[in-house]
Amino acid sequence: MSQDAMRERVNAVRDRIAAACARAGRDPSEVSLLPVSKTFPVDAIREAMALGFDAFGENRPQELASKAQALEASYLRWVAIGQVQTNKAKDIAQWASELQSLDRLSLAQALQRRLEPLERTLDVLVQVKTSPEDTKSGVEPEELVPFLKSLESYPNLRLKGLMTMAVLSEDEQAVRACFRQLRQCRDDAVAQGIDANRLKTLSMGMSGDMELAIEEGSTQIRVGSAIFGGRS
Ligand SMILES: *Cc1c(COP(=O)(O)O)cnc(C)c1O
Repeated sequence: MSQDAMRERVNAVRDRIAAACARAGRDPSEVSLLPVSKTFPVDAIREAMALGFDAFGENRPQELASKAQALEASYLRWVAIGQVQTNKAKDIAQWASELQSLDRLSLAQALQRRLEPLERTLDVLVQVKTSPEDTKSGVEPEELVPFLKSLESYPNLRLKGLMTMAVLSEDEQAVRACFRQLRQCRDDAVAQGIDANRLKTLSMGMSGDMELAIEEGSTQIRVGSAIFGGRS
């Protein structure tokens, strides 16, 4: 894709964010845009860097690690957004700045053990299961508060918020309900004593459903195909 084509795509996404914010009475500065570069080559990431992006979402730890090494720009933030097997914790600890798909304590423990000797910290979002689909992982909403409390035992993990993936459905109400549930989970957790400053980020919404997510309170959308094009 040419630089101009990517710029046009990014502008179109920004227009969609602005329109959704206008409908919801929100300020567009409340919604950050995380480009998801999974499956796209480093040249595409360089084009996005030239447009001012400095953080990229990747869903496979090994791909994240190899792109981080190929690009070598120390100001880049690599954000892991996909399921992480415990034996891949090392790649995340070494190369990622943030993990949005923290879904179990065994992974938190593996990350802590890997981060300590590297003297690194990792920003984390806890993925919440808001959709009945088996393919969607995450902490069950009713188990979230104890889970968040348990994270206090891992000093190299910095809790920043929650993430979810909505059900894949044509039914707008079903998709919207997933996003609404994540926001409710945040509100419930704060009411039950979790520091609101540790739950500022609600990462929800992708290329196909960002408007609904923004209307339901998203503070970060993760956008792949609407910026980089279709994935094969
Ligand atoms: C791929 C992916 C996205 C982006 O999806 P698009 O539909 O390409 O915008 C967002 N979040 C997660 C967790 C993903 O795996």
